[in-house]
Amino acid sequence: MARKFFVGGNFKMNPISREEKRTLLKVLNSADVDPNVEVVIAPPALYLIPVKELLRGDFKVAAQNCYVKTSGAYTGEISPAQLADAGIPYVVLGHSERRTLFHETSKLVADKTRAAIDAGLSVILCVGETLEEREANRTKEVVEEQLKPVVEVLKEADWSKVVIAYEPVWAIGTGKVATSAQAQETHADIRAFLSKAVSPAVAESTRIIYGGSVNAKNCKELGGQKDVDGFLVGGASLKPEFVDIINATR
Ligand code: PGA
Repeated sequence: MARKFFVGGNFKMNPISREEKRTLLKVLNSADVDPNVEVVIAPPALYLIPVKELLRGDFKVAAQNCYVKTSGAYTGEISPAQLADAGIPYVVLGHSERRTLFHETSKLVADKTRAAIDAGLSVILCVGETLEEREANRTKEVVEEQLKPVVEVLKEADWSKVVIAYEPVWAIGTGKVATSAQAQETHADIRAFLSKAVSPAVAESTRIIYGGSVNAKNCKELGGQKDVDGFLVGGASLKPEFVDIINATR
């Protein structure tokens, strides 16, 4: 079966007012979008429930993070079970900002992925190399090292709940997008890795989306690559051009 194109909007720690949030929702709710695209919006945790309630029914919401435990003395954290109970279907895990600013290891990201799937959530699992790693020709090795702990904790059937977001760290929020050839090469490497490490069927069906300075101008070429199954969009997801990105393949 063909992989359904997937476009995620990662609002990060934006917007800072409820008024701005309402304006954004108005744009999304009135947009004419390709019905063949799965659209998932990740607002800050504080806004998950109101956004879910106000957002059109054909778009889904995602948390930007969750903890590995179900409940207990973990001040400031949100559990996968709480997200599931609130009707939030997706969670973003392993974003490079979590890995670098909050020191999340690939092992923790894998354990969170396991916990999220056990709670019934789907996961947008982020991987990607730094500029130094790319310049040292280590991109393939780095993304594989990030994926290996996840492969270890998931069973084959769990992969239907995972979307992999390839986000080169040097492209995130920098305006320096990967070329379509760079994106395609790494996406194909990730698919080959999944085929070997999990199964050819999982490699064929898992969506691998690209993130890092995606905008209305570059999305068509990126989205036309064979192994690019969608996008995770940061900055541009806060602007009306997000609608053009959703419609990149229309
Ligand atoms: P950007 O962020 O689109 O602003 O580069 C992407 C992301 O961090 O997911």
